[in-house]
Amino acid sequence: MTMKVINTIPEMRRWRQGNSSHTTALVPTMGFLHEGHLSLIREAKEKAELTVVSIYVNPTQFAPGEDLDKYPRDFERDEALCRAEGVDVVFYPSNNEMYPAGHKTYVVTDDLAGILCGQSRPTHFRGVTTIVAKLFNIIRPDTAVFGQKDAQQALIIRRMNTDLNFGINIVTAPIVRETDGLAMSSRNKYLSDQHRKEAAVLYQSLQMARREFESGKRDFVTIKNKMQDHILQNSSANIDYIEYRDAETLDSVNAETESILFLLAAYFGKTRLIDNIILT
Ligand code: AMP
Repeated sequence: MTMKVINTIPEMRRWRQGNSSHTTALVPTMGFLHEGHLSLIREAKEKAELTVVSIYVNPTQFAPGEDLDKYPRDFERDEALCRAEGVDVVFYPSNNEMYPAGHKTYVVTDDLAGILCGQSRPTHFRGVTTIVAKLFNIIRPDTAVFGQKDAQQALIIRRMNTDLNFGINIVTAPIVRETDGLAMSSRNKYLSDQHRKEAAVLYQSLQMARREFESGKRDFVTIKNKMQDHILQNSSANIDYIEYRDAETLDSVNAETESILFLLAAYFGKTRLIDNIILT
């Protein structure tokens, strides 16, 4: 089957109805695709007969003053990459298609949307859940694939899927990294050469946490302080947060916690990078 590019909601719905006898997996993205996205596409192809990739830079997940206008875009390249991966449909709607005048409704995951990244980006996750709910309703996939890179996002989407009874199989795929460990991100393109080199400290600090944990240390405050020292001593980053949470619920860690998620966000210049690791 040759790949289709679909721009409108009615056409997307028609395609889905015409292929209703096949299982379909959705990979939502904001484009400017890299190996992290491609790994999600490969996962989607394993999970379902047909694969839809959405490419949409969603304005409601950016706050005023954030990087919506300069977010990198290259549709032709993305299209070629999707074709080479054997994607069936690229859904590439306009803003007017997704948010026609009069749009008023948002999906909010209480509590989860206000912590961690939600503290410095208070309207971010309601934008994410709203656009993902819309994509789920338009495309009605059997499976949807998200990256562990955005750990809080993946957990919020799982929560929304359960709470709103979408009944979609949510898959979380591992983080794909550059050779120095930096998590791949469309935003890495913003980094100066110096910041790009320095940014490896984030993964290094997470690896420090892993080593401490694996050697039996359970004093997470001390681990967090070591991570912070490593980042501050070896880069010019401004740390937004370093936190540890229950990897299933994002609750505070307690004696019953089975897997611990260490998450962090840091600014290199104006570029905000995030990363995380699960310790079990
Ligand atoms: P984005 O285009 O940045 O909104 O990301 C689209 C999807 O790709 C999200 O589910 C991200 O978590 C996922 N993703 C982004 N970067 C990576 C990465 N380095 N490894 C795995 N998944 C990623």
